Amino acid sequence: MTEEFQAKALAGELGPRVGVVVVDVQNDFADPTGALAVPGAEEIIEPINALVDAATSSGASVFYTQDWHPSRTPHFDNEGGPWPVHCVAGSWGAELHPRLRLAGPVVRKGTGMEDGYSGFTVRDLEAGEDKPTELDAELRTRGVDRLIVVGLALDVCVKATALDAARLGYRTGVLISCSRPIAAEPAEVARVVDEMVAAGVEARY
Ligand SMILES: [Zn+2]
Repeated sequence: MTEEFQAKALAGELGPRVGVVVVDVQNDFADPTGALAVPGAEEIIEPINALVDAATSSGASVFYTQDWHPSRTPHFDNEGGPWPVHCVAGSWGAELHPRLRLAGPVVRKGTGMEDGYSGFTVRDLEAGEDKPTELDAELRTRGVDRLIVVGLALDVCVKATALDAARLGYRTGVLISCSRPIAAEPAEVARVVDEMVAAGVEARY
C-alpha cells in the first residue's frame, strides 16, 4: 500500500472530532546530521504531509509537538540525564524539519528543567510529578475525541504521547508507517507496539 493511498484510506476516518498529533519532527531527530537522528526519519515526512492534507480538508485538527530544552537540564547526559544535548531552544536542531507541512498549533515540551516525552505531560524532576501541557485542553476545546499519533520517535515520544492520550480517554491510534523508532532491534520495536496495544492504543500500519 502506498503512503498516499494510505492517507486516502484514512481520510474516511478523519473529520472534525479527530486530532492528528505530529510528534517531534525536528531537525535533531529527523535530519540525518541531527544530534539524535532517528534512522529513516526523513522517509516519513511526505507521508505525514499527505496525512496532514487529508486531515485538514476533513476538518480535523492538527497539532505538532516540539522538544524545546534549555541548554542545561537534567534531561541531558552532561547533567546526569539519559540523552545527548538536543533540541536546545532557538537552535537549528530544535526547528521543525523544513519539509514538514505546518497546519496547526505547536506545543512545546521540556521547556524548563523537566523531562518532556509526551505531548500531554512533562515531568518535573525536582518535584517528581507530572504537569500537563496545553494539548489536552486545546483538543477538548475543539471537541476532539479521537487521535492519530505520528512522528518521532516511535519508541520514545510517540509512545509516551499515545499512552497519555489513551489514559486521558481519547480513542487513539498510532500510524506506524508515519513513525520511526530509535531502537534498531525489531523485537524491541515489537515490544513497544505490544505495550501500546495493551494500553488500548490501536496500531495501524
Ligand atoms: Zn528531549
